[in-house]
Amino acid sequence: RAKELGKNGYQFYKAEMNDTVIQKLVMEEWLNKALEQEEFVLYYQPQVDIFTTRMNGMEALIRWNHPRLGFISPGEFIPLAEETGLIIPIGQWVLRTACKQNKAWQLAGFPPLKMAVNISPIQFHQHDFVQVVLDALQESGLEPRYLELEITEGIAMYHVDQVIQKLQTLRELGVHISMDDFGTGYSSLNYLKKFPIDKLKIAQQFVRDITVDPDDAAIVQAIMAMALSLKLNVIAEGVETEEQLSFLLDIKCREIQGYIYSKPVPAHEFTDLMLRPPA
Ligand code: C2E
Ligand code: MG
Ligand code: MG
Ligand code: MG
Repeated sequence: RAKELGKNGYQFYKAEMNDTVIQKLVMEEWLNKALEQEEFVLYYQPQVDIFTTRMNGMEALIRWNHPRLGFISPGEFIPLAEETGLIIPIGQWVLRTACKQNKAWQLAGFPPLKMAVNISPIQFHQHDFVQVVLDALQESGLEPRYLELEITEGIAMYHVDQVIQKLQTLRELGVHISMDDFGTGYSSLNYLKKFPIDKLKIAQQFVRDITVDPDDAAIVQAIMAMALSLKLNVIAEGVETEEQLSFLLDIKCREIQGYIYSKPVPAHEFTDLMLRPPA
């Protein structure tokens, strides 16, 4: 690229590089401040049993409410948080806040539900990760069975034996484990057999065209068959339409999460969803 630009190419290239470096530094600084100044918020999205139409649980999804830029989605800052290591304190905050919120709803008299929390591979690989989870449970008073950790296949890139050990410990404590975005990572089948997990989350990208693309339909059906024989629960992510819903009902995919039921909402709106009668 620089060559194509001729005489000034090098300079141009350098300027471009500097821009991204500076942008990153600025963002990192902002992320640091965001933690201190409590600019992060959790939204919650229902997970629904479509056989009974009852809510089974919810997933906590982080948002950054920047004082000037407004809401920033996790897709835009989680990668940088991971790169800079800030994902560790941010992830701890998410765990503690989600556990506290779940316990608060239970104390307020809502039927107890499972709270799913996204865990970055970097966070999971910390030596004290199990203790961090225990602290969040202890501090909130939440029973472990009302917490689910969403991991991704990326977790299996390093230290597979330690990963299995940690998952085992967490499950013995009573915490549930699900595999997020299942099918989009690598070596899924090999790890699926080895990893002590409870649930597969079928990635949104397969659900999207499930009713129009025979390949996606076949993939989802294969995942269902595999989950059945491995005795894993399944949830389909990103369900938006009635057509997708009835397809999933047909293949006996019991649980869904998606805009068809609700978008992720702040805590005060989530209580309305919990009060809503089954549809
Ligand atoms: P994810 O864990 O796979 O979460 C599902 C994403 O799909 C969420 O995006 C959710 O808002 C969106 N979604 C749910 N239903 C639908 C639907 O019907 N249609 C469409 N188009 N989208 C739907 P969101 O909240 O922007 O989060 C994006 C990703 O950021 C998450 O993907 C997760 O990987 C990551 N993330 C979110 N919160 C956290 C967190 O607290 N910690 C970490 N480490 N990662 C997080
Ligand atoms: Mg997730
Ligand atoms: Mg997902
Ligand atoms: Mg994701």
